Amino acid sequence: VGPEDNVDDPVQRPGAQACLLSRATEPLVAEVCTVGAGFSGAVIARQLAEAGLAVAVCDTRDHVAGNCHTERDTASGVMLHRYGPHIFHTDNERVWSFLQDYTQFMPYTNRVKTTTQGHVYSLPVNLLTINQFFGTTLSPAEAREFIEARADLSIEDPQTFEEQALRFVGPELYEAFFKGYTQKQWGCEPAELPASILKRLPLRFNYDDNYFFHKYQGMPRDGYTALVEKLLDHPGIEVRLGTAVTRADVANYQHVFWSGPLDGYFDFRLGRLGYRTLDFREIRASGDYQGCAVMNYGDPEVPYTRISEHKHFSPWEEHANTVCFAEYSRACEPGDIPYYPIRLAGEQALLRDYVALARDESNISFVGRLGTYRYLDMDVTIAEALDAAERFLALRAAGAPV
Ligand code: UDP
Repeated sequence: VGPEDNVDDPVQRPGAQACLLSRATEPLVAEVCTVGAGFSGAVIARQLAEAGLAVAVCDTRDHVAGNCHTERDTASGVMLHRYGPHIFHTDNERVWSFLQDYTQFMPYTNRVKTTTQGHVYSLPVNLLTINQFFGTTLSPAEAREFIEARADLSIEDPQTFEEQALRFVGPELYEAFFKGYTQKQWGCEPAELPASILKRLPLRFNYDDNYFFHKYQGMPRDGYTALVEKLLDHPGIEVRLGTAVTRADVANYQHVFWSGPLDGYFDFRLGRLGYRTLDFREIRASGDYQGCAVMNYGDPEVPYTRISEHKHFSPWEEHANTVCFAEYSRACEPGDIPYYPIRLAGEQALLRDYVALARDESNISFVGRLGTYRYLDMDVTIAEALDAAERFLALRAAGAPV
């Protein structure tokens, strides 16, 4: 897709949809293209448009917001997170204040429960979890001592998920809460996964059951898609949905920000970087199905990892009926939607080879979860997109080739 494509009526091109969000009356001749209309593409496009550039935002899907896409269910009125739950949380003042112009964040605190070995417990592992699981009434200091006595202190510098678990929570809690869930989620043994995955979760010796430890947490009042639409609603931005961009198209722009899959850009010529994808089984009911937004399932025999009940993500709304999704994780095949990058040793080596190829390209930056093949939270994605736009504008202002 090059600037010359703007002269066509986009609706008439196969697979293409109208430029839903552009306010430009004349077709826009884009100087920059962002590939992907998720947070990376939308934030970069907005920052560049604010600086006076004309930006095309292309996405192969028929909606913006990538895997954060939300839409209101017509039958129940519930706001659905179409690609699984997304809860915004950050410590980054810049990101938090940037987003205030594009949405109203409603108070939301993620409190997760888990069903395992025939009981329901509170997550992340906290003092209630510990006392219920072991049938104790320990104080914070006693619990710390109790868990340390079970931890494998011989593991000095945990490298794998399993080592991290055995070092910090001990074998019983690892078996009940992490082992089975992780086998299902990642399709491999926790001993093969990096410790960083488990480090995402806190371990608390008090009764705080907030899943996150960040200063800010909230849910956009009208969903993530409305937020991203607002980011893209600028006369300098033209959104082209149902539109694929390839490596051959890059020459049509001064610069391209590629937030699609890194290996896809190179037509998978070195092989495919591994991802997990998700299948969702929809459950509809009246009233309240499970009483909370997210219920995890730690037992390996239960085929799904968790069930999310989406009306609980918008606790300020009232709905008589409810919609839930049970999540099944499996290996991503060609044509599936990639979710979680699997960064095992094999993938790391392949990633290095793709990064070497990427360094030889000009006029392009690889950004976001798929473009950099990393397990990124939304706030990190947005922070990096703000940085990428700032760097680009600074180089351009300095007259450097971009
Ligand atoms: N995890 C687990 N049991 C749980 C929840 C999480 O073993 O009940 C592990 C699992 O490997 C998961 C990782 O911790 O991939 C990070 O969890 P998080 O809730 O951050 O995953 P996300 O919401 O990003 O899928």
